[in-house]
Amino acid sequence: MATLDLHRISKSFGTAKVLHDIDLAIKDKEFVVFVGPSGCGKSTLLRIIAGLEEASSGKVVIDGADVSDAHPVDRGISMVFQSYALYPHLTVFENIAFPLRVQKLAEPDLKQRVMRAAEILQLTDKLKLKPGQLSGGQRQRVAIGRSIVRNPKVFLFDEPLSNLDAALRGDMRVELSQLHRELDATMVYVTHDQVEAMTMADRIVVLNGGRVEQFGTPMELYHHPATKFVAGFIGQPN
Ligand code: ADP
Ligand code: MG
Repeated sequence: MATLDLHRISKSFGTAKVLHDIDLAIKDKEFVVFVGPSGCGKSTLLRIIAGLEEASSGKVVIDGADVSDAHPVDRGISMVFQSYALYPHLTVFENIAFPLRVQKLAEPDLKQRVMRAAEILQLTDKLKLKPGQLSGGQRQRVAIGRSIVRNPKVFLFDEPLSNLDAALRGDMRVELSQLHRELDATMVYVTHDQVEAMTMADRIVVLNGGRVEQFGTPMELYHHPATKFVAGFIGQPN
Protein backbone atom coordinates (compact mmCIF):
# COMPACT_ATOMS: atom_id res chain seq x y z
CA MET A 1 0.00 0.00 0.00
CA ALA A 2 1.44 3.40 -0.95
CA THR A 3 -0.59 6.50 -1.54
CA LEU A 4 1.29 9.74 -2.17
CA ASP A 5 -0.31 13.05 -1.25
CA LEU A 6 1.15 16.46 -1.87
CA HIS A 7 -0.38 19.30 0.15
CA ARG A 8 0.22 22.82 -1.09
CA ILE A 9 3.88 22.33 -2.02
CA SER A 10 5.62 25.59 -2.87
CA LYS A 11 9.28 26.17 -3.61
CA SER A 12 11.34 29.29 -4.10
CA PHE A 13 15.00 29.58 -5.02
CA GLY A 14 15.91 33.01 -3.69
CA THR A 15 13.28 35.34 -5.10
CA ALA A 16 12.26 32.96 -7.90
CA LYS A 17 9.14 30.97 -7.07
CA VAL A 18 9.31 27.76 -9.12
CA LEU A 19 6.45 25.72 -7.56
CA HIS A 20 3.08 27.21 -6.61
CA ASP A 21 0.78 25.38 -4.16
CA ILE A 22 0.95 21.92 -5.73
CA ASP A 23 -1.90 19.72 -4.50
CA LEU A 24 -2.00 16.12 -5.75
CA ALA A 25 -3.49 12.87 -4.49
CA ILE A 26 -1.81 9.87 -6.12
CA LYS A 27 -3.44 6.50 -5.55
CA ASP A 28 -1.88 3.24 -4.50
CA LYS A 29 -0.24 1.44 -7.46
CA GLU A 30 -0.89 4.30 -9.83
CA PHE A 31 1.52 5.13 -12.65
CA VAL A 32 1.47 8.93 -12.73
CA VAL A 33 3.47 10.94 -15.26
CA PHE A 34 4.54 14.55 -14.65
CA VAL A 35 4.87 16.23 -18.02
CA GLY A 36 5.65 19.80 -18.98
CA PRO A 37 8.18 21.98 -20.76
CA SER A 38 11.79 22.30 -19.66
CA GLY A 39 12.12 24.43 -16.54
CA CYS A 40 8.50 24.05 -15.36
CA GLY A 41 9.57 22.45 -12.06
CA LYS A 42 9.22 18.70 -12.68
CA SER A 43 12.61 17.71 -11.27
CA THR A 44 12.28 20.07 -8.33
CA LEU A 45 8.92 18.56 -7.41
CA LEU A 46 10.30 15.02 -7.70
CA ARG A 47 13.33 15.92 -5.58
CA ILE A 48 11.02 17.36 -2.91
CA ILE A 49 9.02 14.11 -2.86
CA ALA A 50 12.27 12.14 -2.56
CA GLY A 51 13.54 14.38 0.23
CA LEU A 52 16.56 15.57 -1.78
CA GLU A 53 15.23 19.12 -1.75
CA GLU A 54 13.25 20.90 0.96
CA ALA A 55 9.95 22.54 0.09
CA SER A 56 9.52 26.18 1.09
CA SER A 57 6.07 25.21 2.36
CA GLY A 58 3.66 22.31 2.13
CA LYS A 59 3.64 18.62 3.04
CA VAL A 60 4.59 15.29 1.48
CA VAL A 61 2.39 12.48 2.84
CA ILE A 62 2.98 8.79 2.14
CA ASP A 63 0.34 6.29 3.28
CA GLY A 64 -1.14 8.99 5.47
CA ALA A 65 2.13 9.76 7.27
CA ASP A 66 3.74 13.18 6.93
CA VAL A 67 7.30 12.48 5.73
CA SER A 68 8.19 16.12 5.00
CA ASP A 69 10.96 16.04 7.63
CA ALA A 70 12.01 12.41 7.11
CA HIS A 71 15.44 11.56 5.74
CA PRO A 72 15.39 10.38 2.07
CA VAL A 73 16.29 6.78 2.93
CA ASP A 74 13.49 6.58 5.52
CA ARG A 75 10.72 7.55 3.11
CA GLY A 76 10.33 4.17 1.39
CA ILE A 77 11.04 5.92 -1.89
CA SER A 78 13.51 5.10 -4.61
CA MET A 79 14.59 7.51 -7.33
CA VAL A 80 16.03 6.59 -10.73
CA PHE A 81 17.91 9.39 -12.47
CA GLN A 82 18.56 10.27 -16.07
CA SER A 83 22.28 9.56 -15.69
CA TYR A 84 22.75 6.02 -14.54
CA ALA A 85 25.72 6.62 -12.20
CA LEU A 86 26.76 2.96 -12.15
CA TYR A 87 30.09 1.97 -10.63
CA PRO A 88 32.30 1.04 -13.61
CA HIS A 89 34.66 -1.17 -11.59
CA LEU A 90 31.86 -3.27 -10.05
CA THR A 91 29.97 -6.12 -11.71
CA VAL A 92 26.29 -5.85 -12.54
CA PHE A 93 25.56 -8.02 -9.47
CA GLU A 94 27.50 -5.68 -7.17
CA ASN A 95 26.00 -2.58 -8.75
CA ILE A 96 22.50 -3.88 -8.04
CA ALA A 97 23.53 -5.13 -4.59
CA PHE A 98 25.14 -1.83 -3.60
CA PRO A 99 22.24 -0.32 -1.59
CA LEU A 100 21.86 -3.61 0.29
CA ARG A 101 25.60 -3.68 1.13
CA VAL A 102 25.18 -0.18 2.54
CA GLN A 103 22.28 -1.51 4.65
CA LYS A 104 24.54 -4.43 5.69
CA LEU A 105 21.91 -6.97 4.68
CA ALA A 106 22.90 -10.61 5.33
CA GLU A 107 24.40 -12.38 2.30
CA PRO A 108 21.63 -14.99 1.59
CA ASP A 109 18.93 -12.33 1.74
CA LEU A 110 21.00 -9.97 -0.38
CA LYS A 111 21.65 -12.62 -3.02
CA GLN A 112 17.98 -13.55 -3.20
CA ARG A 113 16.88 -9.93 -3.68
CA VAL A 114 19.49 -9.25 -6.37
CA MET A 115 18.57 -12.44 -8.25
CA ARG A 116 14.88 -11.50 -8.14
CA ALA A 117 15.59 -8.00 -9.48
CA ALA A 118 17.83 -9.45 -12.21
CA GLU A 119 15.09 -11.88 -13.20
CA ILE A 120 12.46 -9.14 -13.47
CA LEU A 121 14.82 -7.00 -15.56
CA GLN A 122 16.19 -9.87 -17.66
CA LEU A 123 19.74 -9.36 -16.48
CA THR A 124 20.34 -12.85 -15.07
CA ASP A 125 22.97 -13.71 -17.70
CA LYS A 126 24.71 -10.32 -17.32
CA LEU A 127 25.44 -10.38 -13.58
CA LYS A 128 29.19 -11.01 -13.93
CA LEU A 129 29.76 -8.28 -16.54
CA LYS A 130 30.91 -4.71 -15.88
CA PRO A 131 28.78 -1.70 -16.98
CA GLY A 132 31.23 -0.98 -19.82
CA GLN A 133 30.28 -4.30 -21.42
CA LEU A 134 26.56 -3.48 -21.52
CA SER A 135 24.31 -1.64 -23.97
CA GLY A 136 22.65 1.63 -22.96
CA GLY A 137 19.34 -0.10 -22.31
CA GLN A 138 20.97 -2.79 -20.20
CA ARG A 139 22.79 -0.14 -18.15
CA GLN A 140 19.51 1.64 -17.52
CA ARG A 141 18.00 -1.67 -16.37
CA VAL A 142 20.88 -2.13 -13.91
CA ALA A 143 20.12 1.34 -12.52
CA ILE A 144 16.47 0.35 -12.13
CA GLY A 145 17.56 -2.96 -10.55
CA ARG A 146 19.45 -1.01 -7.94
CA SER A 147 16.26 0.79 -6.98
CA ILE A 148 14.10 -2.37 -6.99
CA VAL A 149 16.24 -4.28 -4.47
CA ARG A 150 15.36 -1.87 -1.72
CA ASN A 151 11.67 -2.81 -2.06
CA PRO A 152 10.50 0.80 -2.11
CA LYS A 153 6.83 1.66 -1.81
CA VAL A 154 7.14 4.49 -4.30
CA PHE A 155 9.37 4.74 -7.38
CA LEU A 156 10.37 8.09 -8.81
CA PHE A 157 11.84 8.31 -12.32
CA ASP A 158 13.34 11.55 -13.65
CA GLU A 159 13.53 11.34 -17.45
CA PRO A 160 15.16 7.91 -17.24
CA LEU A 161 15.08 7.29 -21.00
CA SER A 162 16.21 10.63 -22.36
CA ASN A 163 19.80 9.42 -22.98
CA LEU A 164 18.62 6.47 -25.10
CA ASP A 165 17.99 6.41 -28.82
CA ALA A 166 14.42 6.42 -30.13
CA ALA A 167 14.11 2.67 -30.79
CA LEU A 168 15.45 1.73 -27.38
CA ARG A 169 13.23 4.31 -25.73
CA GLY A 170 10.22 2.56 -27.22
CA ASP A 171 11.37 -0.82 -25.88
CA MET A 172 12.09 0.63 -22.44
CA ARG A 173 8.64 2.23 -22.26
CA VAL A 174 7.10 -1.20 -22.68
CA GLU A 175 9.51 -2.69 -20.13
CA LEU A 176 8.75 -0.01 -17.56
CA SER A 177 5.02 -0.57 -17.98
CA GLN A 178 5.58 -4.30 -17.45
CA LEU A 179 7.73 -3.53 -14.43
CA HIS A 180 4.92 -1.45 -12.99
CA ARG A 181 2.48 -4.34 -13.34
CA GLU A 182 4.96 -6.85 -11.95
CA LEU A 183 5.99 -4.82 -8.89
CA ASP A 184 2.53 -3.48 -8.09
CA ALA A 185 4.18 -0.28 -6.92
CA THR A 186 3.20 3.38 -7.03
CA MET A 187 5.29 5.13 -9.67
CA VAL A 188 5.84 8.77 -10.55
CA TYR A 189 7.55 9.31 -13.86
CA VAL A 190 8.84 12.65 -15.13
CA THR A 191 9.23 13.41 -18.81
CA HIS A 192 9.03 16.34 -21.22
CA ASP A 193 7.85 13.89 -23.90
CA GLN A 194 4.09 13.97 -24.52
CA VAL A 195 4.12 10.60 -26.29
CA GLU A 196 5.75 8.95 -23.31
CA ALA A 197 3.17 10.51 -21.03
CA MET A 198 0.19 9.52 -23.17
CA THR A 199 1.31 5.91 -23.66
CA MET A 200 2.55 5.08 -20.15
CA ALA A 201 0.39 6.95 -17.66
CA ASP A 202 -2.68 5.91 -15.69
CA ARG A 203 -2.98 9.63 -15.01
CA ILE A 204 -0.97 12.63 -16.18
CA VAL A 205 -0.06 15.80 -14.32
CA VAL A 206 0.54 18.65 -16.76
CA LEU A 207 2.86 21.24 -15.20
CA ASN A 208 3.50 24.68 -16.56
CA GLY A 209 5.43 27.46 -14.85
CA GLY A 210 5.37 25.60 -11.52
CA ARG A 211 1.58 25.15 -11.54
CA VAL A 212 -0.66 22.14 -12.19
CA GLU A 213 -2.62 22.85 -15.35
CA GLN A 214 -4.52 19.55 -15.21
CA PHE A 215 -4.44 16.13 -13.53
CA GLY A 216 -6.34 13.43 -15.38
CA THR A 217 -6.25 10.32 -17.53
CA PRO A 218 -4.69 10.56 -21.00
CA MET A 219 -8.20 10.37 -22.50
CA GLU A 220 -9.51 13.17 -20.25
CA LEU A 221 -6.60 15.41 -21.19
CA TYR A 222 -6.95 14.63 -24.85
CA HIS A 223 -10.72 15.02 -25.11
CA HIS A 224 -11.33 17.56 -22.36
CA PRO A 225 -8.24 19.74 -21.93
CA ALA A 226 -8.82 22.10 -18.98
CA THR A 227 -6.73 24.91 -20.43
CA LYS A 228 -5.41 26.18 -23.74
CA PHE A 229 -1.96 25.17 -22.62
CA VAL A 230 -3.01 21.54 -22.12
CA ALA A 231 -4.80 21.50 -25.46
CA GLY A 232 -1.70 22.82 -27.23
CA PHE A 233 0.77 20.70 -25.31
CA ILE A 234 -1.03 17.36 -25.58
CA GLY A 235 -2.26 17.98 -29.12
CA GLN A 236 1.22 18.74 -30.43
CA PRO A 237 2.81 16.00 -32.47
CA ASN A 238 6.19 15.05 -31.01
P1 ADP B 1 12.31 20.78 -15.11
O1 ADP B 1 12.79 19.54 -14.45
O2 ADP B 1 10.84 20.80 -15.35
O3 ADP B 1 13.07 21.08 -16.37
P2 ADP B 1 13.44 22.09 -12.79
O4 ADP B 1 12.66 21.57 -11.64
O5 ADP B 1 14.79 21.50 -13.00
O6 ADP B 1 12.59 22.02 -14.13
O7 ADP B 1 13.63 23.66 -12.61
C1 ADP B 1 12.53 24.53 -12.36
C2 ADP B 1 13.06 25.95 -12.20
O8 ADP B 1 13.82 26.05 -10.99
C3 ADP B 1 13.99 26.38 -13.31
O9 ADP B 1 13.74 27.74 -13.57
C4 ADP B 1 15.37 26.19 -12.72
O10 ADP B 1 16.29 27.07 -13.30
C5 ADP B 1 15.13 26.50 -11.26
N1 ADP B 1 16.05 25.76 -10.37
C6 ADP B 1 16.11 24.41 -10.24
N2 ADP B 1 17.02 24.06 -9.32
C7 ADP B 1 17.55 25.21 -8.85
C8 ADP B 1 18.55 25.54 -7.87
N3 ADP B 1 19.16 24.59 -7.17
N4 ADP B 1 18.82 26.83 -7.66
C9 ADP B 1 18.19 27.82 -8.34
N5 ADP B 1 17.24 27.58 -9.27
C10 ADP B 1 16.93 26.32 -9.52
MG1 MG C 1 14.20 18.09 -15.03
